[in-house]
Amino acid sequence: MYGLELLDRVADTSGAEWSLLIAAPFVGSFLGVIVRRLPDGQPIAWARSRCDWCGEPLRARDLTPVIGWLAAKGRCRYCNHALGWFYPGIELAAVAVALTALLVDSGPSAWLDCLLGWWLLALAWIDIRSWLLPDLLTLPLVLAGLAAAAVFDPGQLTDRSCAAALGYLSLTAIAALYRALRHREGLGRGDAKLLAAAGAWVGTTALPQVVFFAALSGLATAGCLRLAGVRLRAQSALPFGPFLALATWVLWLCGNIFV
Ligand SMILES: [Zn+2]
Repeated sequence: MYGLELLDRVADTSGAEWSLLIAAPFVGSFLGVIVRRLPDGQPIAWARSRCDWCGEPLRARDLTPVIGWLAAKGRCRYCNHALGWFYPGIELAAVAVALTALLVDSGPSAWLDCLLGWWLLALAWIDIRSWLLPDLLTLPLVLAGLAAAAVFDPGQLTDRSCAAALGYLSLTAIAALYRALRHREGLGRGDAKLLAAAGAWVGTTALPQVVFFAALSGLATAGCLRLAGVRLRAQSALPFGPFLALATWVLWLCGNIFV
């Protein structure tokens, strides 16, 4: 059903939307650079210019998203080291974000959906790899949400600003309570800043739903991991950022689900 609908949408997409689909794998490639370099404080360049293993400079054909990886059969063509699934994975994830945005919206709205979706994708991936939600990404995302409200929906700017403050303060309070009761960290400060960003994008009414869906998908993931035989104890932890990111994007795309 969704597949046919998507094919229909792709068949009659306009220029702006085609450009979105064409840009998506290149954006994914750039997100890959951010995800690998930002947590280590390395400089962000537009492209990964050298092989991580042999240091050989990569040429345009090596850097073409997905196709370069497929053409080289997933190996560096200079040292033959396996390149792994990271780059094609994040490039395809960026394409999936664009396709989902085109299912829901068209034109400039789809670009805004993708901007948020790609940003959240990078944050979620960094949190999974490095247990970090860098301020360099979360704080500008708060500002971007408020800027989007100011430009596209000025009547909502006050609500979105309140939601950003509420998001930050509520998770900070929960984290402090958890620390006082359990004497260890349960939530990172980055989670509170990400929820502030969520508030700046979805507003006060949808904000509690972001927390609800994030918690629900976190519990469902923990359940699936247990079923798959992964041993989880009370002290085991999952990064919360990916669930917050997913819930934020779903609420942004679908609007309030319970209202
Ligand atoms: Zn190499």
